[in-house]
Amino acid sequence: MNRKSFLHKSLLSSSLLLVPELAHNTFSAAVGKISMKLAIRDRNQKNICATCGARYASAKTNTDTCPVCQDERQYVGNNGQVWLSYNEVAKGRSIRITQLQPDLYDLKTTPSFAIDQKAHLVISKSGNILWDCIPFLDEQTATYIHSIGGIKAIAISHPHYYSLMAEWANAFDCPIYLHEQDKQWIQDKSEHIRLWKGEKMELWDDIKIVHVAGHFAGSTVLHLPHHGTKSALLTGDSIYVARDRKHVSFMYSYPNLIPLPKQAIELIQKRVEPLAFDSIYGAFEGQVIPSGAKGAFNRSVARYLNIFNV
Ligand SMILES: [Zn+2]
Ligand SMILES: [Zn+2]
Repeated sequence: MNRKSFLHKSLLSSSLLLVPELAHNTFSAAVGKISMKLAIRDRNQKNICATCGARYASAKTNTDTCPVCQDERQYVGNNGQVWLSYNEVAKGRSIRITQLQPDLYDLKTTPSFAIDQKAHLVISKSGNILWDCIPFLDEQTATYIHSIGGIKAIAISHPHYYSLMAEWANAFDCPIYLHEQDKQWIQDKSEHIRLWKGEKMELWDDIKIVHVAGHFAGSTVLHLPHHGTKSALLTGDSIYVARDRKHVSFMYSYPNLIPLPKQAIELIQKRVEPLAFDSIYGAFEGQVIPSGAKGAFNRSVARYLNIFNV
């Protein structure tokens, strides 16, 4: 019996099947007695960067550097390069799961770790999608996600969030869709990775990944045309929700405050212009524009382009 069918039968026979919490409710992934076993590779090897959360294919030593953090878009932490094992990351940590809408959850490592981004889980009738990824996964979270339909595919906006993608894909036996223009940033090879080319990739239920470039050459966004009664855009760092939640920003580096050139912002504008959306969900806490997001996007593009015109 394979893993999925075992879990399915266990859930059906145990009467512990979970009912998702109500919208906007935050909860821990407490799932009763059922446990989805994870086969995390090399749990005790120091192969995870403490600053960016990228996991590497092999163990690292104190003299090894992290190319993701050495890149001018990132930084090395104040304590220098630190490598951790999965077990060290896992100590005292769990994953907070919040149901934002009937078809949308967010997932966040807690206490916070590395870049501290969130991932989003999109619930859709033809299969759920994990948008972006986090540098941790535990059995409670995997079990809970299985109980609400699992994950049919993982799509990641850009390399800062590749993190523990290989383990997430193993746990859910699903593909990871990455844009091929960022393939040089893949640090942890996985048989589940599927590189794609071009301007967009259709998934199912009219959901598609759209290449916008900008922050990274292969940066993408996820378009949900049937989000509730309207539509939504899930963005990584190429379209970054500002603190006022009335605008978005377009930067090459956020921690090092390096702006994008005019041509990059015009390309983002061109790729997003055909998409209808009412809300935007960003990768960090509080980054939500709940309505009128297309207008916010257009105002923000105009504000940027005005700067280049003076
Ligand atoms: Zn790093
Ligand atoms: Zn980034």
